[in-house]
Parts: sequence; C-alpha cells; structure tokens
Amino acid sequence: MESRPDVLVVNNFHPPTVSRIDKIYRTHHLWKLSSESQIALITQLEGQCKAAVTGSWAFNEAAYKLESLSLISAFGVGIDGIDINRTKEQHIRVTNTPDVLNDDVADIALALILATSRNIINADRYARSGLWEQSSMHYGSGLAGKTLGIVGLGRIGQAVVERALPLKLKIAYHNRNKKDAPHKYFTSLIELAKHSDILLCVLPGGHETEKSINSEVLKALGPKGIFINIGRGTSVDEDCLIELLSSKQIAAAGLDVYATEPSIPRALRELENVVLLPHIGSATVETRKAMGDLVLKNLEAFFSKKRLVSEVK
Ligand code: NAP
Repeated sequence: MESRPDVLVVNNFHPPTVSRIDKIYRTHHLWKLSSESQIALITQLEGQCKAAVTGSWAFNEAAYKLESLSLISAFGVGIDGIDINRTKEQHIRVTNTPDVLNDDVADIALALILATSRNIINADRYARSGLWEQSSMHYGSGLAGKTLGIVGLGRIGQAVVERALPLKLKIAYHNRNKKDAPHKYFTSLIELAKHSDILLCVLPGGHETEKSINSEVLKALGPKGIFINIGRGTSVDEDCLIELLSSKQIAAAGLDVYATEPSIPRALRELENVVLLPHIGSATVETRKAMGDLVLKNLEAFFSKKRLVSEVK
C-alpha cells in the first residue's frame, strides 16, 4: 500500500481543517511539542516531509529549518506571519486563502461602520439599563452622502464598496497604485483622511505598512471622523489612536484587529467611543470551511504536481 505523504502541522489554526488533513496525510503536530522535541521532529522529517500547513498569521522558526520543505499551505489571506523573503531564499512556495472570505470580512466592516456611526452598542446598553425612561440619548451620525475613504482597496475593499454604495456612501481610496475604478484616488494617505468622514483600513500587515495610520493621518480625519480597522492592528499607531479617541480629536473607532492581539490595551477597552471585536472578520462556519477547502486543494495540487490553486506571488 502506498504510504501517505507527510505534512507538518505548524500550529492548530482551525481544528476542523487540521482533523481533515489528519485523515488524508501522515501529519506531525509541531505545536504539541516542546522546543527540544520540535527540533528532533524536524531532524527526523528531513528529506521525507515537503509540505507544511499553518495559520497565515503565525509560523514557527523551527519549521524553516526543514530543508526539504517546498510548500507552506497557509490558512488565511494576510500572510504577515510568514517570512516571505526567507521562503523565497529557501525556494519554499506559499499559498493562502484569498477571495473566499471577502464577503464575510466586508460584512464586519459594514457592521463596524454602522455600529460606530449610529452608536449601536451604547444604544443597546442604554435601552437595557432603563435609562430611556429618564433621559434621551445623543444622536448618532447618518451615512448617506458621507465619504468612506478606503486604505487598501483590494479584494476585501471591493466587497466593502459593493455594500457601501447602496447605503449612499461616496467612495475614495489610497493604494500604492491607482486602480481602474470610478472612485476618487489619493496618492497621499493624509489627503484621503482629510477628505473622508469614515476612514477604513484594509491594509496587509508587515514592515511596509507598520503604523501607516499615525497621528498625522488620524488628526487629518478630524473630530467628527470615524476610524475602522479590519486589516491588521500593526498598521495603526495604537497609542496614538487611544490618545486621539480619549481627547475626542477623532469621534470614534471600530476595530476588529489589534497590534498585539489577542491582548487589547486596557485603555482602549475602557473607552466608550470604540466598538471592539475579537478579530472575527472571516469567522463564520461557512467561510472557515471554505478556507480549509483551499488549504486542502493546495496540498492536493502540490502532491499531484498540478498548478497550485492560490499561490502567493
Ligand atoms: P489585497 O487584495 O491584496 O488588497 C490589499 C490592498 O492594499 C491592495 O489593493 C494594495 O494595493 C494595497 N496596499 C498594499 N500595501 C500597501 C501600502 N503599503 N500602502 C498602500 N496600499 C497598500 O488583500 P485583501 O484580500 O483585500 O486583504 C487585505 C488584508 O485584510 C489582508 O492582508 C489581511 O491583513 C486583512 N484581513 C483581515 C481579516 C479579518 O478577519 N479582519 C480577514 C482577512 C484579511 P497596491 O498594491 O496598489 O498598493
């Protein structure tokens, strides 16, 4: 009987997908081992194990030491957990799971835009507490006719646009390259912020985007401005965001991602003008299953020497 190919499972990124991989391949769960045992496993797998699976937001230094590694099939679209320069040097191909999550992540962007502009979470607290019988709540801000500035208008950004236009939002954006799109393009992030009522960040993580949303950008958004982040927490100067929210130099923020998640700074958690979500953009049963399907399809293509389904170029 033909033996099953070896697959290194670097972390427990999505237990149902890991279980599916366990059933098809001869898996080795790196994340279950102590550092010493991890090195021993890598030595033992040298030459025979060519593929690894991982969450795209995390990897393990030990796995790079596996010289026979030729594929990393990552679960997730933002591959900032993987050192792409290193994988290139080591001739390791990398796949991720784009597109299948666009709709769900865009829904969460819209949920945060509505929750912050209309003060939905505080309104729910107010209704439950019985305060309505004593005083009225202050008004939120309407969306129709306002400008949504998108930083990083790519696959997910486009899915946000499709939802924002029926709400009568105008769209503007900033990318490194102008797109063939009918929306107003800004080469400067600060100019985009000045022009926007709501600034939505969908930037990938990594060094290039680190703290791109800084004090200048947020101040340009202004005291009525709302900041939303569904990209990566590292793209924002979080201390500065907290300071400007506390001093009401920007009106509100809706965040799904944080610089050092899953830890969220206490100062941020204590603010009333923020809506905080625990990175649930793609966290639906359907999308997580679809992301798992792509991880498996890429493994299958690799082992059958077919074209990878979603290779990171
Ligand atoms: P994408 O299609 O590659 O879009 C990213 C856009 O950002 C591109 O249009 C790119 O345009 C722009 N961009 C990249 N680097 C930039 C820079 N330095 N300055 C300005 N613009 C830049 O990616 P996507 O599929 O939409 O995903 C975007 C990110 O969302 C992911 O990387 C991930 O971090 C995050 N995400 C979050 C969740 C969640 O659960 N919250 C889920 C999935 C993904 P140019 O190349 O023209 O600059």
